This record gives sequence, C-alpha cells and structure tokens, in this order.
Amino acid sequence: MIYAARFLLPVSAPTIRDGAVLVRNGRISAVGTISDLEKDTPDAEVQRFRRHTIIPGAVNAHAHLGFRRGDAPEGGSFSKWLARLIERLPEKEAWTAEAAVDSAREAVEAGTTFMAESSPYGECLPQLAESGMAGTVYAEFFPRDIGDGEPEEAVDFIFQRVRELREGLPERVDCQVSVHSPYTVDPESSRLAARRTQELGWRLAVHVSESPEEVEFVRNGTGGLADIFGSNEWGGAGLSPVRYAESIELLAPGTIAAHLATEVSEEDIEVLARTGAAAAHCPRSNDFLDCGVSPVPRMMERGVRVGMGTDGLWSSPSLNLFEEALFAVNLHDFDGATGLKLATLGGARALGVGDETGSLEAGKWADLAVVESMPSGMDPEREVLEAAAGGGVVATVVGGRLIYNRAEG
Ligand SMILES: [Zn+2]
Repeated sequence: MIYAARFLLPVSAPTIRDGAVLVRNGRISAVGTISDLEKDTPDAEVQRFRRHTIIPGAVNAHAHLGFRRGDAPEGGSFSKWLARLIERLPEKEAWTAEAAVDSAREAVEAGTTFMAESSPYGECLPQLAESGMAGTVYAEFFPRDIGDGEPEEAVDFIFQRVRELREGLPERVDCQVSVHSPYTVDPESSRLAARRTQELGWRLAVHVSESPEEVEFVRNGTGGLADIFGSNEWGGAGLSPVRYAESIELLAPGTIAAHLATEVSEEDIEVLARTGAAAAHCPRSNDFLDCGVSPVPRMMERGVRVGMGTDGLWSSPSLNLFEEALFAVNLHDFDGATGLKLATLGGARALGVGDETGSLEAGKWADLAVVESMPSGMDPEREVLEAAAGGGVVATVVGGRLIYNRAEG
C-alpha cells in the first residue's frame, strides 16, 4: 500500500514534493517520491491525495476522554473548577463512556494517531481501544477511596487492576499507572507506586505544578485545595511541586509530567533535566484555568523532552492536538516546524515511543494524517498546522490502516 500526496512532511527529514510512504504490515517500509516508490513497487495499491499534505499523525501526550462537551464549568480558577468536577463525579454527569467515545472520535477526526489518556482506574480504556488510535491509558488511583486507605493496599490494588486491564488489548494499546497529583495522592502511596513502576519497567503519568493552588498546597498546606479535601495530611512540604515530586521519586525517564504551568523555576527545570522526566504541555487548559505559562522554550533548551496535550473538554475547547500546537506556536513565538514537531515527534519522544511513531521514517508504524493544504509560503509547516488546526484533516491512518477518511466523498 502506498499513501501519496502533493507534499509529504516527514518531520524528521526535509519536505518531499509529490511524496509518498510505502506501507508493509502496518509499518513504513520506504519514504520518497511517488514516482520512485511506484517504480520500485509496481504492484502496490496507491491511495492518492492530490491536493493535500501528509504529515505524521498527532501524538497527544496528555488527554482525558471522559468529559462531556458543552457543560464545562467556568474557567479562571483551578480550585473552583476542581470543586465543581468533584461535586459532579458521583452522578457521572461530566464523565461518561458516551463522552469518551465522542472525544476519541473527535481526536481521530483531527488526525490523532497516538494518545496518552488518564482516567480514574483506567475507565476510558475501552473507548481508546475501540477508537482505532494507538496509545496508553494511565489508570489514576485515589488511596482515600481504596480499602482502609493504606498506601501498600492502594498501590497493590492499582497495579493488579492495570494487569487485569491489559488482558486482551489491541497490539498497540497499553495500560499504565498514574499518580494523579501531589494533592490527591499521599506521598507514601506516590513513592511506592513510582518505585514499583520503575522496578517493573512501566511508565508513569502525573500532573505537576498545574495551578497556583497546587503550589500553595505543596509549599504551605493551605488554600483552595486543602479546603476541598477538608484535611491536610501532607501538604506544606515547603518545596515547589517539581522538587516535591522529585523528593517522592515521581520523576524519572519513564514519567510524563503534565502541565508544569505555574511557577516552574530555573531550578525546577534543572530537576526535570537531571531526572529525565518528560513534559506534556497543555497551554489552552492552563490559559482557561488561569494557571500561567509553562516555560517550554527553556525546558527544550535544557533538553527536557516536551510533547503537547489537549487535556479534556472541561478545561480545553477541543481534542484537536494540532490546534493545541498552534496555540503554543503563537504563545511562545515558535516557527511552524517547531510546532509540528511538538505535536508529533516531540510527543512520541516524551512518551518513550519515539522509535515507533511520531515521524515518517522507514521502520516506524505508518501513523499519519492527511491535511487539506498545499503550502506555498515561507513557513509551510505553519500553513499545514493552521489547516490541521482548523478542521483540515481529511484522513487518519494508524498502523497503515485508514481509520478515518472523508477525502473522496
Ligand atoms: Zn489532566
């Protein structure tokens, strides 16, 4: 099978005019011009997109599928937002399987081929697995809700749950553990879970330094988050959330840390670089909840791996990762190539799957998006990113298989 378009942006190599990828057994076996690939493999079936550009599929490094569209609480304050979320959890008003199906479909139709999703106890795993996307669901656990709330018991429970969830999954869908945040998971449970993750060679997702309220809770043990939980058993560590996360062993090369938006200092960036933890940048969610701007350019300069995340529909306007990346381009004054790379290869590297996806290279999975765009200006990547952000994705291919196609009809 050959997928061909007017332009092909491999991300890891220069743009190819009249470019194509040859797919065998789900993986890319060659990248080149359509005429060269057709010459070498005359028997291959060709799917041609004449007025389009092929790019790697989006890699969403931090998302929640379960939030329903249209009833998000008001933004502007993280703790008020979280209070509203918690208030509505019992009746599942905001967090439903149906919403997860819709969110996953929206992501697919926006060219997403790999997603790192976080949900309580991994409850959105079925919807990710059925979406056609590849990816990982990180199962969050809340020790207060488990048995007697003993760390050992809570951690045993979530690891056992993840082992069960892993049974019978599609080849490229995986389940891992998430330590939700410094304010929902006590330090001992966090440390136990992090250690076990590292011993097993598993991966870990965390929310870190997302909001001013979190910074206040971790430093002083006060503020809106201490109020929400009605108790403060471990807040007030006198550290920044990043230093605190390091102190309880959460930061490691297998960790994806979401947000890092509020008061992330140069010293914190040094900690991230030293521990090898990766970052998921969610600028639209941070903007909506007035959480500040993540110092992503500095992180990248210091060699921290950064990907983009949409977060979920209660704090973000869409599951379109290319739209998220375009927002970051405008926020940080990046060029289009940087934005496109953050949305694809950057996310793949941040999630530890950079050898498998994120760019169009021989040997990787054939994960790609087809965008209605024929760039002609000085910043072609930006043009394609703008098109993809604005609903211009016409087809999505995961592992060589078209999971979405509105190009011919
Ligand atoms: Zn999140």
